[in-house]
Amino acid sequence: MSDSSRPVNGQRCHLELGNDVFVVASTWRGVLKIHVREYRRSGEKYIPTKRGITLTLQRWNELVSNRSRIEETIEGGEGGEGGEFKCHLGGNVYANMQSDYPGLDIRKWYWNGEEDTIKPYSRPGIKLLPNQLESLLHCFIALPDYVPELNITVPCYMEADHMNQMGYYMCSECNPNGLSVWN
Ligand SMILES: [Zn+2]
Repeated sequence: MSDSSRPVNGQRCHLELGNDVFVVASTWRGVLKIHVREYRRSGEKYIPTKRGITLTLQRWNELVSNRSRIEETIEGGEGGEGGEFKCHLGGNVYANMQSDYPGLDIRKWYWNGEEDTIKPYSRPGIKLLPNQLESLLHCFIALPDYVPELNITVPCYMEADHMNQMGYYMCSECNPNGLSVWN
């Protein structure tokens, strides 16, 4: 884990996962967000590409809270029983792993009313390869040093208005398609 390129305007950190993919915390129009994104080098600079995903602090925390499930799936994929992993980060953003491919895919999905199911968009999103995923797990621990706000971010489903079922159904973060599609 290295903070290999100097953070620029509004960036808290620029942590490399490998292969020019970085975890960047930056503020845009007053909102602090976490980007997991591929950059391309242009001389001394790093230019963000479209390959990546931008997460709110709540969604990042949701991903981090699934750390042990991610690790179990990695272990399962390496000669174990395998296994699949899918977690809802909020809105229509999901992180998932397939048993036959030890990488983590983070992207937006969409509701397909015809088939009564949700499907992944080809973009925006990013698929982290095993070596990048290893660095991401380190990043889970390192990031609150740069973004202490992560420690005080309360997920919407812990708020009082979610304590009844209606609050949950009305929340675009928890139930983005107006239906119960959690699994
Ligand atoms: Zn909610």
